[in-house]
Amino acid sequence: MPIVVAGSINVDLIQTVEALPRPGETILALRSARLPGGKGANQAVAAARAGAATRMIGAVGADEAGTWMTDQLSQAGVATNDIATIAGALTGTAYIAVERSGENQIIVASGANASLSPAMVEAVAGTDIRVAQLEVPVATVAAFFAAPDDGQTKRILNAAPASLEAMGLFALTDILIVNQHELAVYLDLDKAPSTPQEALVARALICGDNQLIVVTLGASGALAVRADSAVHVPAFPVVPLDAIGAGDCFVGALCAMLDQAGETGVTDEGLLTFANAAAALCTQKPGAIPAMPLRSEIEAFIATHVTGSRPI
Ligand code: ADP
Repeated sequence: MPIVVAGSINVDLIQTVEALPRPGETILALRSARLPGGKGANQAVAAARAGAATRMIGAVGADEAGTWMTDQLSQAGVATNDIATIAGALTGTAYIAVERSGENQIIVASGANASLSPAMVEAVAGTDIRVAQLEVPVATVAAFFAAPDDGQTKRILNAAPASLEAMGLFALTDILIVNQHELAVYLDLDKAPSTPQEALVARALICGDNQLIVVTLGASGALAVRADSAVHVPAFPVVPLDAIGAGDCFVGALCAMLDQAGETGVTDEGLLTFANAAAALCTQKPGAIPAMPLRSEIEAFIATHVTGSRPI
């Protein structure tokens, strides 16, 4: 089954600073970097590198950044024929300031991503794995999930960044993936759940038969919650160099595993183990897209590292 990702394509402009600027202040950056990004693009590359035939539906501006991003996707093995170039729009850009402590400020200019319309994503057909996030309009994601299929299609929503407006999409999904902070927003919790036990509250989001909710818990791994079962798979023990893109890597790899398993299917534990391994590898390299691991690397990593899981 091909994986089709409908989502954002951004250039990340990252400035490393001594201390984040206060309102009205001008400061000099210690270092600057330009990296390919956007949740949609990151997840598409993660899925392709994890071994799945992957197609991206998205929008870029008629500018150098748009060509650069399309090339980055294509070099990673993602089919880019469905990436539209929007005249008069700029390619989406994330302006990121990071201080030495790791604290950051991010402003995302959606640019062409805001022009990704329902009509542009309805060109999906047949059996596929449809993957979306929330950096493009909610109505577009709704149209993408609602497009006709033959009954075997899987719909996966990474409901990030958190948007209450998007909760109407949850009933359209087979797998809903959130991190602990997004979970707190959707359930209106005062504090983000930090343990697998606490994250079981995710069960309240289930709104369909056989629906799976996955909560990523950073260094504590991930939790799979169904109406009548739950399993926690701890993270692989690594010392992260840079967690940028780990969540997106997790989503892309999970979809690739789903694709590989095909009709035979895969257990929730198997899904999360593969995704945790890919995300752990992603934390070992700088950036998002350049850090997405190949299937061979993920398999070798799983074969040589022990994790485990337990039903809770
Ligand atoms: P996000 O990037 O969306 O905030 P998380 O921080 O939950 O998402 O991380 C996503 C996944 O990345 C985790 O479920 C885990 O598999 C992996 N991961 C993140 N941090 C670590 C870490 N310190 N050690 C090992 N794996 C990690």
